[in-house]
Amino acid sequence: MSAIVQGATGPFEMVIGLEVHAQVISRAKLFSGASTAFGAEPNTQVSFVDAGMPGMLPVINGVCVEQAVKTGLALNAEINLVSVFDRKNYFYPDLPAGYQISQYSQPIVGKGVVTIDLPDGTAKSIGITRLHLEMDAGKSVHDIRADATHVDLNRAGIALMEIVSEPDIRSPEEAGAYVRKLRSLLRYIDTCDGNMEEGSMRCDVNVSVRRPGEKFGTRCEIKNVNSVRFVMRAIEYEAARQVAVIEGGGTIAQETRLFDSQKGETRPMRSKEEAHDYRYFPDPDLLPLRLDAKWVDGIKAALPELPDARKERFVRDFGLSPYDSSVLVTEKENAAYFETVAKGRDGKMAANWVITELFGVLNKQGLDVSKSPVSAAALGGLIDRIKDNTISGRIAKDVFEIMVETGKDADSIIEEKGLRQVTDTGAIEAEIDKIIVGNADKVAQFRSGKEALKGWFVGQVMKATSGKANPAAVNAILDKKLKG
Ligand code: ADP
Ligand code: MG
Repeated sequence: MSAIVQGATGPFEMVIGLEVHAQVISRAKLFSGASTAFGAEPNTQVSFVDAGMPGMLPVINGVCVEQAVKTGLALNAEINLVSVFDRKNYFYPDLPAGYQISQYSQPIVGKGVVTIDLPDGTAKSIGITRLHLEMDAGKSVHDIRADATHVDLNRAGIALMEIVSEPDIRSPEEAGAYVRKLRSLLRYIDTCDGNMEEGSMRCDVNVSVRRPGEKFGTRCEIKNVNSVRFVMRAIEYEAARQVAVIEGGGTIAQETRLFDSQKGETRPMRSKEEAHDYRYFPDPDLLPLRLDAKWVDGIKAALPELPDARKERFVRDFGLSPYDSSVLVTEKENAAYFETVAKGRDGKMAANWVITELFGVLNKQGLDVSKSPVSAAALGGLIDRIKDNTISGRIAKDVFEIMVETGKDADSIIEEKGLRQVTDTGAIEAEIDKIIVGNADKVAQFRSGKEALKGWFVGQVMKATSGKANPAAVNAILDKKLKG
């Protein structure tokens, strides 16, 4: 994947803007007291407000407002002290009131910026246009009966934050990094669980293409994409499709499309609706939302350390590379685990063990760090035994494997299996003498210039000591003896 689509007539650049719907973490809905718990029996979490009963009045949930403000602050965005809820009118069976309460011209959060970390180690700023609060609709269920559609209103009225980016994204990779960064931020501050499989984070992907230097082309919007991988694949497909249309002499119609993840393609859904189609107007049941500046300042002061700050601190305090650091801080639980391992130890060594060995095991077993078979304290203990020369780095990998399997700590495994490193130079020297005597031909070859044989000798010593000889000592003694 890359930022450029190579057409038959020349290169095209992708232009991408994302609208992310993030479900707010809150026990109650945006305008009612009904529960938001996931997975309940259909239509068991529906108040009269959510069901659109005539005469019911929405009441704003303060927790949801606080969550939106917190998120706005984490996006380095302006918080609007006055915002307005509007009705977005449309007919749909899972929208009983005939309108969705959303925010249009005066959202709660204005312009902000998010920094994304790219795999090549560079960073890029993506502008945030706005964040507004809105209620979710219900769900139409088509697969219970062949001749009827059922409606489940449990989701109706749950608070969503719609986070709109500027069209600053230029490739599928950047789009993927942006969605991952948003998810990371939301999880750090506990305003959305970021769970894309359960639909608590969904993405509308706007894509257009242009020849380098030209102004923006007409965009298509791909609705409701529900994984990072699908976001990236949808963009790649859609950009190539648009280039083919343009090069075929056609023009791009602004439309709403769907991504078919099975076929890996996008398909038209409907022509793009305009704002006036929804006849937005301020909801007469709700007063403008007014926030106290001091209250906002209090939320800002109470924000936890965010991923960017943590990343910089890891680079500064532990001497990590920016990339390793960004890998470690993406999930706050991973970052906390690493900090426990690294505290009072060699930070780079701790980072290597966590990223390569621990994450390797967790990935293989499909676990996250909270279920790790090796605790941070236990991994720290293993690193201590490498540092104090009880075991070599090589043997430590075997010990780690046993730790994963048995849950035992490094010290007991080293004792039980007798893995203590041989640092006694006398013992190592004795083994080396035996090998030199027994392999006079190899010694002669080495001395006549075949220096690559050194590795073979090291291997023999390790074999004779079951890998327990201290590698530095082996090398030093071999160097001395082989010279003759
Ligand atoms: P709507 O609400 O109709 O979808 P918005 O003005 O809110 O329209 O824009 C939606 C998204 O489309 C934003 O994320 C924006 O960055 C993106 N966007 C706007 N113009 C383009 C373009 N030419 N190409 C790609 N994305 C674009
Ligand atoms: Mg849109």
